[in-house]
Amino acid sequence: MTLDRCIACEEVAVEERIEPYVVEHDGKSATIQDGRMVCTACGNVSYRGSQISEHELAVAAAIRQMDGLLSADELLRIRTKYSLKQTDMEQMLSTGPKTWTRWERGKVPQNKPADKLIRLLAEDPELTRQLMRQAGVINEEAEAAIERFEQDAKRLMRTMVMSKVGTAPSAEMQRFAERVAEEAFETVRDARRQVVARGQAA
Ligand SMILES: [Zn+2]
Repeated sequence: MTLDRCIACEEVAVEERIEPYVVEHDGKSATIQDGRMVCTACGNVSYRGSQISEHELAVAAAIRQMDGLLSADELLRIRTKYSLKQTDMEQMLSTGPKTWTRWERGKVPQNKPADKLIRLLAEDPELTRQLMRQAGVINEEAEAAIERFEQDAKRLMRTMVMSKVGTAPSAEMQRFAERVAEEAFETVRDARRQVVARGQAA
């Protein structure tokens, strides 16, 4: 292994090491494994090249974990589930430009209120549509994706109801079951909406 010259003591004694690094956050702490340059002569520590961004990513990931926040990968998954763009998310969450981008790249952890709202959006296509419209986001692909999720949810509800009706229901029974399924879908949606409203008021 070739050693580098130390910028502090000028000895040719700097080597790359993986060492534990303690992240302190809100009175909590977590240990990450840090790749860095260490001088074996004077102990000076420095970061080189990709070590800097890897350090930043690991620190942000540790903070996310300590705060119980969604990971950067989860943010990506939720956004693409709805075919939304990064700028759409920024508009919907009223953040500054490039904020979502930084969250999704893992450089910066999202704040707790945003995290809470993103979790709600992940579970509720209709809420996502509402927020898109409120924020003036125009995205036809996202509208279509949301429509598909709703159709899937309705289909699932219908399947559940029909399975209780039996194998050869009369036409009348079938209409009745479809109405029950439709109402069940709306009841679930409204109940969720009330939970969301309460959560936002709190
Ligand atoms: Zn040194």
